[in-house]
This record gives sequence, structure tokens and C-alpha cells, in this order.
Amino acid sequence: METHTTPYPEREIWFLTGSQGLYGEDVLRQVAEQSRAICEMLDGNAKIPVRIVWKPVLTDAESIRRLCQEASASGGCVGVIAWMHTFSPAKMWIAGLTALDQPLLHLHTQRNLSLPWPSIDMDFMNLNQAAHGDREFGHIESRVGVHRKIVAGHATDPRVVGRIAAWARAAVGRHASRTLRLARFGDNMRDVAVTEGDKVEAQLRFGFSVNTYAVNDLVTVVDEVEDKAAATLAAEYLESYDVVPALRSDGVRHDSLLYAARIELGLRAFLTEGGFTAFTTNFEDLGGLRQLPGIAVQRLMADGYGFGGEGDWKTSALLRTMKVMGAGLPGGTTFMEDYTYHLGPGEPRILGAHMLEVCPSVAAERPSCEIHPLSIGGREDPVRLVFNAAPGPAVVVGLSDLGDRFRLTANTVDVVTPGGPLHRLPVARAVWKPRPSLAESAESWLLAGAPHHTVLSSAVDTETLTDYAAMAGVELLTIDETTSTGQLAKEIRWNAAYHRLAQAL
Ligand code: MN
Repeated sequence: METHTTPYPEREIWFLTGSQGLYGEDVLRQVAEQSRAICEMLDGNAKIPVRIVWKPVLTDAESIRRLCQEASASGGCVGVIAWMHTFSPAKMWIAGLTALDQPLLHLHTQRNLSLPWPSIDMDFMNLNQAAHGDREFGHIESRVGVHRKIVAGHATDPRVVGRIAAWARAAVGRHASRTLRLARFGDNMRDVAVTEGDKVEAQLRFGFSVNTYAVNDLVTVVDEVEDKAAATLAAEYLESYDVVPALRSDGVRHDSLLYAARIELGLRAFLTEGGFTAFTTNFEDLGGLRQLPGIAVQRLMADGYGFGGEGDWKTSALLRTMKVMGAGLPGGTTFMEDYTYHLGPGEPRILGAHMLEVCPSVAAERPSCEIHPLSIGGREDPVRLVFNAAPGPAVVVGLSDLGDRFRLTANTVDVVTPGGPLHRLPVARAVWKPRPSLAESAESWLLAGAPHHTVLSSAVDTETLTDYAAMAGVELLTIDETTSTGQLAKEIRWNAAYHRLAQAL
């Protein structure tokens, strides 16, 4: 069997095969052989990012219920694939599906690609009857009301593999979200609406916990960092980036680089100690910090941490979740903010950036490490990495709290090279053309009440996001090349009715 490493070595997806006792041992042995072969094909496919673990064929209600409970309680299992190899009378699945607290993918497949026309007899028909066995299963899934992704086709079909891979990534993201602990240093930026939200509802819906710490708790840890450790990290900066002369070892502002390194080490220590994988800062509340964290936040994001500026915990948690979903894929994922527009001549484009905090995982080139004044915050000049985002397709995603529920809004975009050199812009940035056009994208985005802080990812695709939203039970509005603002307005109204009804059920 082909083996490969996965980006999630501790996560598993369990492969469940349904049948029944009626067929006798000889047939059930063949069922097991065939389902194991399919499971191994999926597990051996490098595009599928999680181990697919085969489980013995299920033939009665009690073993089905027990396995669904085991899958739900297992720390490593993040989802379940089910296939009815033969006919598995579906009332046997009611207790199991009711007990299942894992994402479910219904794989509708069969072992053989082609029918052996001249040799088909009733033995063949009895062994290979997923075509109706899975219909029986689909019925009970609908009847129980269990959410599932349905994927139909042969295990060698790239479309099948791609759809399973996207779902597997979403399942790992769901697991990451449900175990995510987020540290906020200070509260939200004063008077801002969109960064607010219901943290209790967020924990119910997404599973992540959000708690605030005094920024001076962080300052204490930053101040405790040893000079030698800060110097070692600053030396790493010098090797990794094009550091401007003033910040170098013999430069007049080398102390600022040492302090930036000290912030990174302090933040890392604080987050590691508390088991946090996401955090927020707020430039209005820096306590004893001498710089707004810039390069520290950028490098932590590059290591997979979620981050949101101005206390934006929703975007921070979303960023962490998407970082996990995109692990090992080409491209990057970053905190982002729609900043300013190029409305013409030529095709309209958005210039996105933030004060400092854009993740170098999206960089097109080796970043430069610079120091410039920051007009807000009233602290010493912060050190930051400066670069352009690499061109290519990407998605921009925002999470907003509508008061009675959450909404994800996604826009497919094309990151492009800036319209010219940006010699005087001292922050990392991305320039993109939103689909279907800037006007329709922006009209749709505003109509959706979607936020100005987002996650931009060239790693995670919209299928993965769609699967994740379905697993979390959260609305996802997608703005892409097929979107018209008028149609989206209707979708928003329909969705409002649906989600209110769904909550009441
Ligand atoms: Mn902002």
C-alpha cells in the first residue's frame, strides 16, 4: 500500500461500511475485502490530507450505535465516511446516526468501475448493490435530519477525491475550532460595531472559547524575556528578511528590533503556556508595551496562529480555523482588511492591508523588515515586515454577528501585482480583483453586512468553506463569478427565513 505523510498526523477519518447478516459469511468476507480496498485507495491518495481508517463491516443496529458513539468520543477522529456496500436496512442506523457527533460524508460508490457484462449473474448483483443500498441510507439520513456531504463516483475519480479532500479539511477545521482557545489582550476598539459579538453563542456554534487578559499580563512576560534570547531571535530576523540598515546590529535603531523580538518571544510564551492558538490586540490598549506588535504578530500568523486587530476575536478565530484547513497546501492565509480602491482606469481593484499585521505566508517575495512611525497608538515606531501578496486566485472571508446568529461571507478574488511600485507604503499589502466585479462584489458584501476585517486565503477553497459552514450550521454567502447583487439580495432574505426557522426546530 502506498503511504504518505499527512499535514494532520494526529487526526483520523473513520471508514464505515454498512451491510447486513442476511448474506452469509462468504459474501460478508468479500464485502470487507472490497471496502478495505476502497478505504486503502482513499487513504493512499496524497490529496486526501487525513488518514482514512477502515472499520469492520457493520451488520446490526447495536454495533452501528457503538461505533458511532466511539467515533464521537474519540480524540483523534474528526469525521466519518459511510458507504452501504450492500443493502443495510436503514432502521438499523437510526440510533447510530442520532448518536453521531461527527461530520458525516456519505460516499456513494462501488468497488468495480465497469460492469463485466457477459459474466454478470445474480451473485454479482447481490454483492454489488450500493446503487440501491445507498438510496436506503440516504433516505434515513434525510429522515433523521442528519447533515451530510454526499459524494458519488469511483474512488479513482479525481472529482471524488477532491470532494472528499475538501470535506476532510473542513472536518479538521471544525475540530480545530472546537478546541480553540483565544486570548484577547484588551477589549475591542471603542465604538466599533462589527468587531463585537456574542462570545457565548460563538462557543455554542463554533466551539471556540474567547477570554480577555489584561495587556499588562502580557507585558510582564515580555519584560521577563532574557536579553540573550531576544538577541538570538533578532539575529534570525537578520537572516530571514531584508532588514533595513537602521535596524541591523550596527544600526541606530537596533534596539527597536531587539524589543520587537522580545514582544514575539513574550507573546509566544504567553500563548504556549495558556494553550492558545489565536489572539487579538488593540492599539488603544497597549499598557506597558512600547510598540504595537507588528513583526511578532506577522510571524505568529505564519506559524498558524489566528489573529485579529482591534480586539476582533471573530476574525482571529476564523483565521486560525482556516490556517488549519489550509495546512500543507500551496498558498497562504492572512488577516486582511479592505483598505482603498483603484476604480480606474483599467479594471477596478482593491488594495488590502492593515496597520502592520499581514501574514508573510501570502508574500510574493522575501519580506523586508522595516521601521516606520505609526500615526495611531501613540507608541514607539513599530517594526514590521513589508511585502506584496503573491498573485493568483484566493478567497476573502468575513464572519459577522447578525444579533440572532452568525454569517460567513466569502468572495472569490484574483490577487494581482500592484499597479506600480509602492515605495512609500510601509506595510504589507495585497491587491486583488474581486469577482464578479468590484462594484457587484462591494454591493453584495455591504448588503450582506459583512465585515471590513477578513481572512484572505490562497490555500483554502470555497468548497472547503462550504463544507465547514454546513458542519458548523452557519450561513455562508458566496460572492463569485456567478453572483448578481439582485439575486444575492433574494438569497439573503430566503436565508434569513430559513435560519430563523431552523433555530426554532
Ligand atoms: Mn482594522
